[in-house]
Amino acid sequence: MDYQKIIKEVSREVDPLKCKGIVADYIPELAKVPKDKFGIYMLTLDQEEYCTGDCHEKFSIQSISKVFMLALAVSKGKESVYKRVGVEPSGDPFNSLVQLEYEKGIPRNPFINAGALVITDILLSQYKDARAEFLNYLNRLVGQEDLKYNRKIAASEKACGYKNAAMVNLMKSFGNIENDVDEVLDLYFDFCSVDMTCHELAKAFRVFANHGTGVIDEEQYLTESQYKRITAIMQTCGFYDEAGEFAFQVGLPGKSGVGGGIAAILPNEYSIVVWSPGLNEKGNSLAGMKALELFTTKTETSIF
Ligand code: GLU
Repeated sequence: MDYQKIIKEVSREVDPLKCKGIVADYIPELAKVPKDKFGIYMLTLDQEEYCTGDCHEKFSIQSISKVFMLALAVSKGKESVYKRVGVEPSGDPFNSLVQLEYEKGIPRNPFINAGALVITDILLSQYKDARAEFLNYLNRLVGQEDLKYNRKIAASEKACGYKNAAMVNLMKSFGNIENDVDEVLDLYFDFCSVDMTCHELAKAFRVFANHGTGVIDEEQYLTESQYKRITAIMQTCGFYDEAGEFAFQVGLPGKSGVGGGIAAILPNEYSIVVWSPGLNEKGNSLAGMKALELFTTKTETSIF
């Protein structure tokens, strides 16, 4: 299969969508990112790599970090994590407060904001220095040492993070947050602020394509059961209230972020990351989602 040719073809075919959509402007720093950026990076488990466009440019990974947060939390805390956060799709926007109130402060899943805030709280309790631990974990997954939090992005989100603040407070009132709410929020904003390239994210996601074992270092980051569960949650909850549509169009487990990135995997085969900052009305990258749909259709690779 000529993946490189197909990736270039896909990139050309989504040209008309590249400047469409809306950049996430509720985080002021993200509103500054040029909408015409576009990159794809694909890595197979046999070390083959294919790419195009701005795939070596850093962007804000935002909610894609929720997958790494969950992975780190379950690898240390085991299954007790799932007592405090559910595993059902929410069908509501990622920052909705409605469900949280009538479900008594237990978020539907770890990939909506409320769920990731609980995971952040769990990490704060699990580690002496969760901030350093998370970055170290991410660096190990990628195989480098220079990934950092983007202070400007984190501060920009903090300045307007009213809904996230409301969620932590609501969950604290139900007894589902152990630590100080400001500490949880600050750490969550840092986790979301990491800048990575499509290439770096594809390297990090390869561990999920490889059943939880590092491709280069062969370290077992997740047990088979932890891997199975995280991948299942990616499939059912990874794309806001558009997870069904993503499964229907693309057919790969993955996670998107409001920075315009989408990271996805085909178990046993490859990881693929697309970045295009213009978002559709659900918060998923418009050109990115179309590109992945074309890619899985042309290559006839999906989990189905
Ligand atoms: N930091 C963002 C927020 O909490 C992440 C949202 C996203 O990428 O889905 O709103």
